[in-house]
Amino acid sequence: MKKCSYFFDFLISHAKVYGFIFPSSEIYGGLNAIYDYGPHGVELKNNIKEFWWKSMTLLHENIVGIDSSILMHPDIWNASGHIDQFNELLIDNKDSKKRYRPEILIQEYVEKKFFNDPKKKEKILSRLSKSLKKKDLVDIKILIDELDICDPVYKTKNWTKIRRFNMMFKIKNEKNLYLRPETAQGIFSNFHNIIKSNRMKIPFGIAQIGKSFRNEIFARKFIFRMREFEQMEMQFFLFPEEEIKWYEYWKNIRLKWHLELNLGNKKYYKLCDHNHLAHYASAGSDIQFHFPFGFQEIEGIHSRRDFDLKNHEFFSKKKLRIFESKKNYLPYVIETSLGLDRLFLAIFSSSLKKEELKNGKSRIVLKLPYYLSPIKAAIFPLVKKDGLPEIAKRIFNDIRIHNRLVYDQKESIGKLYRRQDAIGTPFCFTVDYDTIKTNTVTMRNRDDMKQKRIHIKEISKIIEQETGLKKVLEKLSKII
Ligand code: ATP
Repeated sequence: MKKCSYFFDFLISHAKVYGFIFPSSEIYGGLNAIYDYGPHGVELKNNIKEFWWKSMTLLHENIVGIDSSILMHPDIWNASGHIDQFNELLIDNKDSKKRYRPEILIQEYVEKKFFNDPKKKEKILSRLSKSLKKKDLVDIKILIDELDICDPVYKTKNWTKIRRFNMMFKIKNEKNLYLRPETAQGIFSNFHNIIKSNRMKIPFGIAQIGKSFRNEIFARKFIFRMREFEQMEMQFFLFPEEEIKWYEYWKNIRLKWHLELNLGNKKYYKLCDHNHLAHYASAGSDIQFHFPFGFQEIEGIHSRRDFDLKNHEFFSKKKLRIFESKKNYLPYVIETSLGLDRLFLAIFSSSLKKEELKNGKSRIVLKLPYYLSPIKAAIFPLVKKDGLPEIAKRIFNDIRIHNRLVYDQKESIGKLYRRQDAIGTPFCFTVDYDTIKTNTVTMRNRDDMKQKRIHIKEISKIIEQETGLKKVLEKLSKII
């Protein structure tokens, strides 16, 4: 099943059919690179957020949170460099009217065409890399012409010149108001408020989860590259002389955090140093993940030094420096920036499996980490009569405020199990005739499908222990 394109199409369809992700505005034909999270999707997403948030703010005593606004003073984007430098390259095909990022066009072409000729591939990519560094747009266009690259869909070569394109969304009729392209600036602009209100001392961090918006030219690959997405970012403020120490520390910690998700160590391409740094960064590293379409960035760790605070001091004319032990300085910053939707896709794609069963049939199962599953357990009556639904409903009502559960009696027990497998529910508890005599139910495990009998009183404790965040946070606290 895991042949890339077939598996990816299957994943997108599974996400829709089982209420994880829908194309936005679908009844009007959809909107390019915008998606909505359905009932199971939002639960999974909230669980991922909670895991990240608690890992940052509970496991590190010197990290606090913030929730800043999406719209900010226009000068923020001058200070941050986004107005001048948050650009992508753009090329249009005049026949198809499609827009592309020229470097991606070249990379994808070369990957396919010179798959068996790594030397040639390397040579072209190295020339591309040099031209990008020198911002030599003419040479990149020459490369497209020399390689004879066609529009991947319409197969014509009628290209425009390459030009730059600012990726921020501007609000119409509002002078210089933008939707934020990263959450980080809300942290920098509140740096002093947080120091004062929370008596923070360097080194310390500020974490934030929130929406960001980028007018991506090459927006495809489902929720991997969207125009509206969510980021989980943390800016860590430190003494300038400790830049390398903290940069190494955060690279190491973030990788350990990812590996704790147990998605498979081979799925991570660990920490590739950036060749092309973002305009604000002095050093940068990616954690790359093996998505269904190949290895791609899932999280970036950057040293932003004092780029942002220095520019905000200049533009706002407010002092943001620290006076401490007779020293007067601007702290440096290490940033960890993780895309929530990309992490969702990483978890979803590694968990979705088709399994052949001993009876010759197969099942689709979403083997999510238990603590992330949207539904923690399902309660069923074996049949819809003889008082079994009433007992099952009573059990459900007794424990449902502590955990996200479902009660279901709409289909046969086999079909009910399959549905819970497909949405990743770790446990199913079934009330049968023995329940009436012994107060026990069968407990079925999602992963090995084994069943055992347990007392009704144990259900709540098992769900809590096996599907809560406590276990994984305790484990992480020992390695962080
Ligand atoms: P890319 O090179 O893939 O465009 P980036 O280097 O521009 O990513 P950053 O600006 O470092 O990304 O943003 C931090 C994180 O935010 C990324 O690692 C990614 O997980 C997420 N992210 C960035 N752009 C998008 C997007 N358009 N859709 C979904 N997630 C995104």
